[in-house]
Amino acid sequence: MSNAYAQRGVVVLTGAGISAESGLGTFRDVDGIWTKYPLEDLATPEGFARNPEFVQGFYNARRAQLKTSRPNAAHLALSELEAALQAAGRRFTLITQNVDHLHEQAGSQNVLHMHGELLKVRCEACRGVVRWPDDIGVRTPCPTCEAVGLMRPHVVWFGEMPLYMDEIETELARADLFVSIGTSGNVYPAAGFVQLARRAGARTLELNLEPSDGASFFDEARYGKASELVPDWASEIMRRL
Ligand code: NAD
Repeated sequence: MSNAYAQRGVVVLTGAGISAESGLGTFRDVDGIWTKYPLEDLATPEGFARNPEFVQGFYNARRAQLKTSRPNAAHLALSELEAALQAAGRRFTLITQNVDHLHEQAGSQNVLHMHGELLKVRCEACRGVVRWPDDIGVRTPCPTCEAVGLMRPHVVWFGEMPLYMDEIETELARADLFVSIGTSGNVYPAAGFVQLARRAGARTLELNLEPSDGASFFDEARYGKASELVPDWASEIMRRL
């Protein structure tokens, strides 16, 4: 294997579709979260400023739901693939738009949560981020600086900057394979990653229940349930190592 080849790698982007079979709701499907609740109220800094009790209550309920959800075969296959690629000296980067922790529960090591994490909260005063599996209220004091009333979910809302963008762009620039799993492809910047990877010379593959908004940008697409498509694809890659 040449050094140039060893430095390139596999980049996977996941969205709500990979967690659907673990019982966590997607966003834009017919029964999706945003068809039931107004996005402007629950996923914007302005909505939080208007009604913090309502927003904290919504995220508290979603955090509680995580206590009983378990990774499915797709999460487990990605974790197995990461270990196999690393053992073979290949790079593997998992970027997720999901705020759940099912990839970590499945054993994935290197996960970039570009939209934040539901099991963490952040203090608007000291900017400290802490792991927080329980409810937060509008009067919960920050465990670090003790400021009261300034704790919020560590999730990226509309109008805010996604996290880890420098690392993500670096990994996309050296991808030789980019795979998008369970995402509708209509929230940027994630929806544009396929084009960045193509520009860097990567092959691109979509695994989704149905064609995403960006389906035409992929070299190959397979449609069906993530719990079936992802283990099959990961096995193909591992057989070739
Ligand atoms: P999405 O709901 O827009 O799309 C989910 C996709 O998964 C759909 O294309 C659907 O066909 C597919 N799918 C459903 N079940 C599947 C299965 N079993 N197997 C395979 N595919 C399946 O979710 P998204 O693309 O992840 O949305 C973009 C991101 O935008 C979200 O992940 C979220 O982080 C972000 N967002 C964040 C907020 C916020 O509060 N911060 C609000 C809205 C959206």
